[in-house]
Amino acid sequence: MADQRKPARKQAAQTPAKGKAVAPRPRSGEVAAPEPEGYTSLIEPRGAVSDFLAPVGGFGVTLSNMFRPTVTEQYPSEKVPAKPRYHGRHQLNRYADGLEKCIGCELCAWACPADAIYVEGADNTPDNQRSPGERYGSVYQINYLRCIFCGLCIEACPTRALTMTNEFELAGPTRAGMIWEKQDLLAPLRSGMLQAPHPMVEGTTDTDYYRGEVTSSTPAQVAWVKEHRPDDPTLPGGAGLDAANVPGPTAAVMAATVAGATKQGTR
Ligand code: SF4
Ligand code: SF4
Repeated sequence: MADQRKPARKQAAQTPAKGKAVAPRPRSGEVAAPEPEGYTSLIEPRGAVSDFLAPVGGFGVTLSNMFRPTVTEQYPSEKVPAKPRYHGRHQLNRYADGLEKCIGCELCAWACPADAIYVEGADNTPDNQRSPGERYGSVYQINYLRCIFCGLCIEACPTRALTMTNEFELAGPTRAGMIWEKQDLLAPLRSGMLQAPHPMVEGTTDTDYYRGEVTSSTPAQVAWVKEHRPDDPTLPGGAGLDAANVPGPTAAVMAATVAGATKQGTR
């Protein structure tokens, strides 16, 4: 029954209505929609060879691209370094003797359009000197669920305590785990640095620190740390920088999460 009905419908579609002009039947590859009355197409009709090659013409693009160099990045199997000025995770920097650059002024928090930073400042004391000058950041948090990596906070920082690294792999299993604390954000200790707290370099002011005139810890600072924290790993002959540079708990969990996801995504 179905075979008998089909030709009848086809014929009805081809039968012109009374008094109407019949549009020419479209050739293969041409748009089949009827042209409006009085319209003349400017497209040249294709020749017989073009008509013949039309069905495979699109493969020309595919074939020509097969011989071009591959630009697809095989992330996470192969990690391509970000551009030098990429805005990634933040870092709280230190001076060359190990004192912290953050003075707890909260300017970064006020500059942040996403309200992602929380800072509490506190006074330095002779027994707890963590940064040059009077104040240091006692609490420092960045909420990476809010941060939009605009960089306004690092522009606002008067001591260059806050900068942004190229690290972009930020993932965590919990919402709370996306809030990085000061311990997670502090820059690693490098050779010549002593873990804070310890006194400033003798005879210097905070201005000398800002001007970069402090280039390393001094014997007097080493002696102070030896007296107050004889087991400090950053002391000469101590356990070393690797023992001192333990990532904060949030950073450690996040690193493990990213490592797991990378392993899963690696071919
Ligand atoms: S990068 Fe922008 S959004 Fe993120 S903490 Fe800094 S100011 Fe706030
Ligand atoms: S990071 Fe800079 S702007 Fe923010 S509290 Fe510390 S010193 Fe102030």
